[in-house]
Amino acid sequence: MRLITLLAASAALLSVAPAKAADLSATAAALRDKALIDSTAWSVAESLTTEIGARPTGSPAMERARDWAAAKFAELGFTNIKVESYEAPSWLRGAESAEVVAPFPQKLHILGLGLSAPTPKGGLEAEIALFRTLEELKAQPPGALKGKIAVVTEKMIRAQDGSGYGAINAARTAGAAEASRRGAVAYLVRSLSTDDTRLPHTGGMRPWGDVTPIPAAALSTPDAELLEHMAERGRPVRVRLSMASSFTPKAPAWNISGEIRGSEAPDEVIVVGGHLDSWDPGTGAVDDAAGIAITTAAAKLIGELPHHPRRTIRVVMFGAEEQGGAGAAYAAAHKDELGRIVMVGESDEGAGAVWKVSLPKGSAGHPAMRAFASTLPAVKAYVEDAPARFGGADVFPMVAAGAPVADLHQDASRYFDLHHSADDTLDKIDPAELAQNVAVWAALLYTVADSDIDFRALAAGGGQ
Ligand code: ZN
Ligand code: ZN
Repeated sequence: MRLITLLAASAALLSVAPAKAADLSATAAALRDKALIDSTAWSVAESLTTEIGARPTGSPAMERARDWAAAKFAELGFTNIKVESYEAPSWLRGAESAEVVAPFPQKLHILGLGLSAPTPKGGLEAEIALFRTLEELKAQPPGALKGKIAVVTEKMIRAQDGSGYGAINAARTAGAAEASRRGAVAYLVRSLSTDDTRLPHTGGMRPWGDVTPIPAAALSTPDAELLEHMAERGRPVRVRLSMASSFTPKAPAWNISGEIRGSEAPDEVIVVGGHLDSWDPGTGAVDDAAGIAITTAAAKLIGELPHHPRRTIRVVMFGAEEQGGAGAAYAAAHKDELGRIVMVGESDEGAGAVWKVSLPKGSAGHPAMRAFASTLPAVKAYVEDAPARFGGADVFPMVAAGAPVADLHQDASRYFDLHHSADDTLDKIDPAELAQNVAVWAALLYTVADSDIDFRALAAGGGQ
């Protein structure tokens, strides 16, 4: 009953200026099919990873990435291109090494974590205290780790939805602070990764707060297991660590955006994008040149329609996701616009195919979203029952402030083999899967932009 009422009401609303549901479906399907054979996303990812490469916030490469972004938007026909400045934390890696000195001298493969303290010049050497889980470490009383290098070797589980990452994320983001509180002089954590290569995976940590910063690094997964085997022998294992880094709490950063301007309601804006910054070991391909490429290519395809859709589609290349700052800066700079932001979304889960879409609360029955959903079976995706909640780190501050959000869930089965490691390179992107992402994004962005769907009203209407 409710659905029929909703359909009737929406059909009446759609009968004037916005495209009718049948037209929305046809155009969305045509965009989907065009996207599947379009190489724009691949070209964008290839360009960013080749011409810029790794681009941590605060690095000279990030300045080049900023200029690349503005030039790329112009090259692809976007208008109202903006470069918005703000300040964000910047931790930059120096030389790093680690080795077991006793009882079985061997080199270890590590990567420092963002916000790690450097070791003293010449390094530090200490006995390790190894824990299989972060909870085991946290069960230690204050002072229990005095003078030790704490090691946590918790394993990450592979899952299509990437949920294994969130499940043990605290081992990386909070483990060093927990170790420092208990007197440890350094912290090593098994990489948050599903791979078995000897490449460690870096990543950020939470700010130290009132805890004394200590050196903290990720071990490659085989090196974490190597330390487990040594620890099992019951003899003290001594490790030498040498790590250098620099930290600037307020480095210059930028969010760069371009628009496909709406034809009838240009002030109503859909805000989507990916993050331009990356960690340093790879070339930032799956994280997140892919997301930049997917959203940019989807909007560009829509811009090539004979008529622009009613509403504006804005793509933002967020300049400081990994170490934080971009999302809060964007939401603050656009707070007066928030009520006119129709929907937000971000592509930041790699380059695997979209398998499931979560729409803004209460909107799945609306004709525009039904038109969108009708394009999905051909690309092996579907709209899930539950509404979207997150959207991505860079858009979440807008979501928290009330902006409607969509989540396009990618197959993350392989993502954490590559994420934040030297293996995050262009060759790992499957062009066909990348194009599938563009197809789903283009269909969604178009149907939202060329309808007058009001997600806020639908959510207030009490739908799920
Ligand atoms: Zn990312
Ligand atoms: Zn990342």
